[in-house]
Amino acid sequence: METTGFFGNWGGSYIPEILNQTFNQLKNEYTKAKSDPDFWQEYIDLMSTYSCRPTPLTYAENLTNHFGGAKIFIKREDLNHTGAHKANNVMGQGLLVKRMGKKRVIAETGAGQHGMATATMAAKFGFECTIYMGEVDVERQRPNVFWMEKMGATVIPVQDGSRILKDAINEAFRDWVSNIDTTHYVLGTACGPAPFPEMVSWFQSIIGIEAASQILIQHGKPPARVFACVGGGSNAMGIFQGFMNDSTVELVGVEAGGKGIRSGRHASRLCGNDASPGVAQGYKTMFLQNDDGQMLETHSVAAGLDYVGVSPILSDLWDKKRVRFESATDKEVMEALDLTMKMEGIIPALESTHGFVQAFKEASQLSPDDAIIINQSGRGDKDIFTIAHAFNDPSWKEFIIALGSEYKKQSRKCSLEREQDTR
Ligand SMILES: *Cc1c(COP(=O)(O)O)cnc(C)c1O
Repeated sequence: METTGFFGNWGGSYIPEILNQTFNQLKNEYTKAKSDPDFWQEYIDLMSTYSCRPTPLTYAENLTNHFGGAKIFIKREDLNHTGAHKANNVMGQGLLVKRMGKKRVIAETGAGQHGMATATMAAKFGFECTIYMGEVDVERQRPNVFWMEKMGATVIPVQDGSRILKDAINEAFRDWVSNIDTTHYVLGTACGPAPFPEMVSWFQSIIGIEAASQILIQHGKPPARVFACVGGGSNAMGIFQGFMNDSTVELVGVEAGGKGIRSGRHASRLCGNDASPGVAQGYKTMFLQNDDGQMLETHSVAAGLDYVGVSPILSDLWDKKRVRFESATDKEVMEALDLTMKMEGIIPALESTHGFVQAFKEASQLSPDDAIIINQSGRGDKDIFTIAHAFNDPSWKEFIIALGSEYKKQSRKCSLEREQDTR
């Protein structure tokens, strides 16, 4: 990777001057860590004792027989602490923060997954932690907000703009500018100004390093194709790096097709025709924006893929045709999820399931001598409300309604008890 922060035409570091010093400190610390084998060993030790590394590579025998082509392997990032690959990034950044001697971390979060991961890291390292979250998302993601607060984080609902992820990002930057000496901003994906895209990808490369040696042991040769969903691009960059230099391995990134890539209701930047080059949020990439450079509304059934930009490293790999980009619709995702649960007893996150959709479309074109790997970036338990709604499960509806009235009963009882206590 390049050291200028540019990847071909993409990337850079378009930041306010006031942040220069902090970014230089971060770049220096990251560069030092990268050339220090002790740092990587400390990272591996942490991830194998606090998270579940190495995560297994699971042979999906039933799905393989069902499609009758390539052997399907699943890289199990869902088995990480807090249920997704996000742990790899936040824990790595936590170690860097410790080295920089800072005591406070901030982060933005949309669906709450990155906020959760950051809050666990802050608790573990003893950092003060503030999470910015759009007010709309705070309401939608109550359980995550509850746990973040229980782990000691302060969650600040952002009331600006449309009160979602992009507004939370702006607010987090504002905080950082006012508290640069004490605070590190834990960016959640392989986007943003340099060194974040490269640094986050480096931490996530642990996925690809493990998968590359696991597939040799379990299959005897490299895979024909590797599939990963692409939101900001960090889990995809993570697994792709294990196979980047082997031109016989085809790399496939799958974006959110939402209601279809011609519907205007999706989050496909590199697949389809709706994105164009732009500079926003500190970096240059393909953004879903209008002719005036205003960001468009995006849609996906998977909150983690619902983002206007994409890793500048992936934009470059798209330019160079090293990675092929496809998209999966919400409907296709539900079908692939249903099949995976029934055949393998595995519940992939809605985000991850996008990779499964494309792998299922291609498996039968390949021979049984070939293997394909799907990166299962996270587990689907968190998606129970969305999934149950999509499957239109009648007993679940009853449960939610009953839960509502039970909750009202409980809170009435609690406030009564509290009144009695204070008397
Ligand atoms: C956040 C998230 C994603 C999207 O982020 P990337 O940076 O594109 O990996 C994908 N899958 C899961 C499970 C997530 O939580």
